[in-house]
Amino acid sequence: RTLRQEVLQNRKRYLNTDSDSEMLMQLFADSLQQLMGPSSDESITEERFFDLLCQATDELFSLAEGSISAVSLIKDRGLLAMRDPHGIRPLVMGERVSATGRKEYIFASEDTMFYMLGFTLVRDIDPGEIVYINQAGQLFAKRLRVETFNPCIFEYVYFSRPDAMMNNISVYRARLRMGENLGKRWKQVYGDKRPDVIIPAPSTSNTMALAMARELGVNYSEGLHKNPFIGRTFIMANQEERRQSVRFKLVPQRLEIMNKVVMIVDDSIVRGTTSREIVAMVRNFGAKEVYFASACPPVVKPCFYGVDIPTSGELLAATYDLEASRQYLGVEILFYQQLEDLIEAVTRKGKHHIDSPCHACLGGPYIQRNAV
Ligand code: SF4
Repeated sequence: RTLRQEVLQNRKRYLNTDSDSEMLMQLFADSLQQLMGPSSDESITEERFFDLLCQATDELFSLAEGSISAVSLIKDRGLLAMRDPHGIRPLVMGERVSATGRKEYIFASEDTMFYMLGFTLVRDIDPGEIVYINQAGQLFAKRLRVETFNPCIFEYVYFSRPDAMMNNISVYRARLRMGENLGKRWKQVYGDKRPDVIIPAPSTSNTMALAMARELGVNYSEGLHKNPFIGRTFIMANQEERRQSVRFKLVPQRLEIMNKVVMIVDDSIVRGTTSREIVAMVRNFGAKEVYFASACPPVVKPCFYGVDIPTSGELLAATYDLEASRQYLGVEILFYQQLEDLIEAVTRKGKHHIDSPCHACLGGPYIQRNAV
């Protein structure tokens, strides 16, 4: 609201939408225009123009706390990419050489489409960094601020594609380590107790479930077949829609479930609606007992950094304690990843520079004080 007021009242600019991106764009454009003053575009050298971009971006970082990974086209000038000083959201740069021998660049939150488009990953944009490419293809880059590096841990748990390389960490490998850690912790807590089969709640959790099965020496089975034409349920608009879509989305395989002690592994539990439906399905298909393991610790707080996690009142773990959650889901055992194990799984390998991944929605501190 404060930023909207800044744009509308102080900067006298109009907003067409409620989009954060439009607001940031207006703030940035206004700062840049003021910095340029009456001088015409042509009279400013590229070096000077980049300097002005840095100043306008720095002003934006001061005004807009939170996560920013933005790419913008500046008319008749070039392409600009910026990442907030804590690097909460990812941003990567790739390059390719065109048929005419010219270098071309790409920016995205993941590198997963680079190969398909003929680009190779160059690097992550650093936290607090701005990269500008002018029309002649000259690249300018500068890190404007150096603060703690706190990328979102939920990107590794759920959001990113498994084949993404993010902050110099392989998402796939991080998920394998999450499953491995989950298995190790299970052994500590439950000793020799084992399910007959481990089934992922597809498909983000396939990798975690596979690694957990390996760690426990238990069969891994794709006992829930995923219909590829249904989208992600956690992002659907209302509860009933989400509940219905689970049944359209997943088809249990009776032979994999019948008369077995089944451990369902999911990447996370947000509202619990999907998990509860999955458990009911597995029971209907004849499971003897059902355990539920989440590769992410309980999600207890909303996100103010661009992820659509619901309010605390809608989050299962913020509403119920462990025993009440277990009963709500209808399972014999509900098992969560420990926070330290999740952080270890994400940060164990890779040449990264992460100080501490953001885990505010898992009970950690919000990165910037004004975010709450
Ligand atoms: S609060 Fe959670 S979802 Fe939001 S940026 Fe932090 S870790 Fe990611």
